[in-house]
Amino acid sequence: MTRLRKFYGWGFQDEELSAAEEAAWLGNFHRLFSVDRFEERHVPSLAEISLPTPRVTPPPALEAICTVEPYERALHSFGKSYPDTVHGLHGNYAAAPDIVAYPRTGNEVAGVIDWAGGVPLSIIPFGGGSSVVGGVNPVRRHGAKGAVSLDLSRMNRVIEVDPTSRAARMEGGIFGPALEAELRPHGLTLRHFPQSFEHSTLGGWIATRSGGHYATLRTHIDDFVESVRVVTPRGALETRRLPASGAGPNPAGLFIGSEGTLGVITEAWLRLTPRPRHRCGTAVWFPDFFQAAAAVRALLQAGLTPANCRILDPEEVRNTGSGDGSAALMVLGFEGWDHPLESLFSRALALAADHGGRAAHAEPGQGAAEKWRTAFIRMPYARERMVPRAIISDTFETAITWERFESFHAAVTRATLDAIREVTGRPGQITCRVTHAYPDGPAPYFSFHALGRHGALIEQWQAIKNAASDALIAAGGTITHHHAVGRDHRPWYDKERPDLFAAALGAAKSALDPGSLFNPGVLIDP
Ligand SMILES: Cc1cc2nc3c(=O)[nH]c(=O)nc-3n(C[C@H](O)[C@H](O)[C@H](O)COP(=O)(O)OP(=O)(O)OC[C@H]3O[C@@H](n4cnc5c(N)ncnc54)[C@H](O)[C@@H]3O)c2cc1C
Repeated sequence: MTRLRKFYGWGFQDEELSAAEEAAWLGNFHRLFSVDRFEERHVPSLAEISLPTPRVTPPPALEAICTVEPYERALHSFGKSYPDTVHGLHGNYAAAPDIVAYPRTGNEVAGVIDWAGGVPLSIIPFGGGSSVVGGVNPVRRHGAKGAVSLDLSRMNRVIEVDPTSRAARMEGGIFGPALEAELRPHGLTLRHFPQSFEHSTLGGWIATRSGGHYATLRTHIDDFVESVRVVTPRGALETRRLPASGAGPNPAGLFIGSEGTLGVITEAWLRLTPRPRHRCGTAVWFPDFFQAAAAVRALLQAGLTPANCRILDPEEVRNTGSGDGSAALMVLGFEGWDHPLESLFSRALALAADHGGRAAHAEPGQGAAEKWRTAFIRMPYARERMVPRAIISDTFETAITWERFESFHAAVTRATLDAIREVTGRPGQITCRVTHAYPDGPAPYFSFHALGRHGALIEQWQAIKNAASDALIAAGGTITHHHAVGRDHRPWYDKERPDLFAAALGAAKSALDPGSLFNPGVLIDP
């Protein structure tokens, strides 16, 4: 039986937080906001939602791959950002796509593009729809008669595995679990595990330059892409499969991070590795978050590349139930397939100890690292329960060089907390973890929590988001380390990128998508 994804919330329709998990989350927020109860609003069911009448009908040749089913149009109305969830709570589906198309081949993708170009319609490539930055909302460009959501999930095959070079050719719409299941019999893995792994696709990862779970070395999908095949309004192109090349700017690089604005990534060759056989790891406690950060820097600058060296500040530790909030936590782990890792692990522990780190001794499966991991996996299911209670809870992530990290952290924290107090009239919370790290700097990942007001949640969220984003750009960071730009990050992305680069990107867009059919407003203006 096919499991359907929720059109409101995270995951499959048969998955949700357990009562105990919900109580734990709410317990955190009761304590944080000093309130006894939350005013809870009803989330409309599909039958209670009204969708606008489609403005167009597909031509006979495309009828078999197009649908106007209410569930499909609701599912493709939003991604998974905070404002998307609030719109869903309000039953605000006015911007639903007119049509959802499910191409099965590159030729069918080209067929939809031809039709959309003639009408004209805006085309929104849709992988898993897990965008948290307004990347898949069916926005119409000026003059377009409607919008078609182009769902790639039927292009879901691993086409070919090359065990000699350790690479595979795969279709863009394949989801994480299916991709790994197909590689497993070959003893290989892509080893790219974003938190959204189960509900996001290879094409979406490449289009957004996603970041996987591993903290060092090959952190982004970019590092795995050998070549891409892309269908654009000007035709299809395929880049050469090469381990490396010095031949001018990288052609595949134009499409890695193109966020559905230049065409559709229908296939790609990806570098693989054997499945890990050696693992060692532990939780390491630090008296202070910045001591933990100093230890991460020492590890990376010593040339160690642990699979995990995530650090959590004490409040994040408490929120995730990994500890009591009196210390910062490093989740340290090494993984490999060829040689034992104990000597690297010992060296990492010694470096951590130099910075005040104390390795935990816990029963397997009982430790802080495991508790954090469980909370991390279950976290995405909380939002659909918190938004109806007017809780504003969101994350943002960035990167900064080490020498600026502490002042950067202070500026972003202060700006976010000030904005929460100003907008909501009461204190909130911001916590930080470092999810990825490099020899020259960390990628800090912030979570913020505030008690909002029904009817004003999007405005309140936006004011907090603006303050945080202004602060991180002013302090020299990037608007995103891996969540992408979409529409929500545009104002800050525009500040971050050089103007001449924006002009060059605009020229590439005009060359490949002269009618501005693809994803209007994402990355660049139509
Ligand atoms: C709970 C949760 C956890 C997350 N964790 C992570 C994480 O750990 N790391 C991370 O990097 N991100 C994370 N994200 C963000 C999101 O999952 C990533 O951006 C992911 O790469 C999107 O993949 P997708 O298939 O869902 O793409 P979608 O959300 O469907 O699309 C994203 C963008 O790519 C375009 N696009 C999609 N497919 C194609 C294609 N085949 N060709 C051209 N353009 C295309 C879309 O038009 C859109 O602009 C998370 C999101 C959620 C909700």
